[in-house]
Amino acid sequence: MRSVAEAQKCVLEQVRPLPPVTARLDAPPLGLVLAEDIISDVDMPPFTKALMDGYAIRASSLSGGMSELTVVEEITAGKWPVCGIGPGEAAQIMTGAPLPEGADAVVMRERSQTLEGNRVRLEDAAIRPGSNVMPRGREMRRGDVVLKCGTRIRPQEAGLLATVGRTAFQVHPAPRVAILSTGDEVVEPTATPRPGQIRNGNGSMLVAQVCRAGGVPRYLGIAGDRVEALRPRIVEGLGDDVLILSGGVSAGKLDLVPQVLADLGMRALFHKVSMKPGKPVLFGVRSRQTGDDPPHLVFGLPGNPVSAMVCFELFVRPALRALMALPPGPPFVQASLAEDFAYRTDRPTYHPARLWSTEGRWLVQPVPWFGSPDLRAVAAANAFVVFPEGDHRHGAGETFPVLCVEDRE
Ligand code: AMP
Ligand code: MG
Repeated sequence: MRSVAEAQKCVLEQVRPLPPVTARLDAPPLGLVLAEDIISDVDMPPFTKALMDGYAIRASSLSGGMSELTVVEEITAGKWPVCGIGPGEAAQIMTGAPLPEGADAVVMRERSQTLEGNRVRLEDAAIRPGSNVMPRGREMRRGDVVLKCGTRIRPQEAGLLATVGRTAFQVHPAPRVAILSTGDEVVEPTATPRPGQIRNGNGSMLVAQVCRAGGVPRYLGIAGDRVEALRPRIVEGLGDDVLILSGGVSAGKLDLVPQVLADLGMRALFHKVSMKPGKPVLFGVRSRQTGDDPPHLVFGLPGNPVSAMVCFELFVRPALRALMALPPGPPFVQASLAEDFAYRTDRPTYHPARLWSTEGRWLVQPVPWFGSPDLRAVAAANAFVVFPEGDHRHGAGETFPVLCVEDRE
């Protein structure tokens, strides 16, 4: 049986970033990755500008640290100066306004005193050419690459795109992810379960996990354990970039998902991984109808909720990130066990746990857990600590890899 690391490698080998699409600034595509270099069409600032409200002067006019000058003009932001500044002259200027010809510094208003007849007394022993001004092009020059292809868009990138007038630009899109729950016993959360039935916890959980990973989920409901019920829903789900199924991939009599997927042209790349929970997990690909676009990815997750959750984080999340041209991310940290913990397991086990850091060190504490159906235990957890197979008494302070499932960016 494959190890988790081998299975992850197998998934990532199948994934390439989705072909770029046009995004627009009126709905900034936060978290997506630019698929082109962005070049500035302007110098920024476009003119040498005042960084303070005050008086634009020649610094040499204040060589003694104090002087009385003649005010020749008032320049507010958005206005273009008409007078030049000579020795002994000043222009009243506001933050963001262009510096007049001949001026090379701004004395802040707090260091001024207005006098009779357009005169002002300025006092600033520290003034130098360049004080309180930002020269043209200091931030960027026209023609500069201000954002490189591969940059992830955050609010500051959105502002920069606006600054250089790029209201439309190319990004790798968020993958569309279809989610289908399977099982004759599974009913919608709005229903009151009859004897033998349970509600579809996985559907909402997987929708939320897709959102957290940056994908666009599409909930396809529940299909019963019959070929006629599964087939049309799976066909629908195969229209999206990724299809996630839950349930129906184990060795039970009604676990029909692998066969239906195979009949619909999915090539299985693995089925079963050496892990607990989540062993029956299935992964496959189906070629696109069009060109050489990357294949549709299909994940058959086991029905038990904790298995489905762990398999999503280990296999689906890195795939969604790779489709968006993001690095798979380092979701593991090494953490020290906060208390002794005795544990016996026959496969590497992802045990729900609480992870926290103190004094620059990660600590981890397993939470009480009754196994793969017990999602309630995971509500008290923010991570999964990985215990090796065997019968062990793990001592406090021993370190283990921990799968982080909360966002830490
Ligand atoms: P399966 O993988 O189909 O054999 O299901 C394994 C276990 O998970 C069974 O106890 C199912 O009832 C349960 N299960 C399957 N699907 C769901 C679901 N969508 N939500 C919650 N539990 C489920
Ligand atoms: Mg089932």
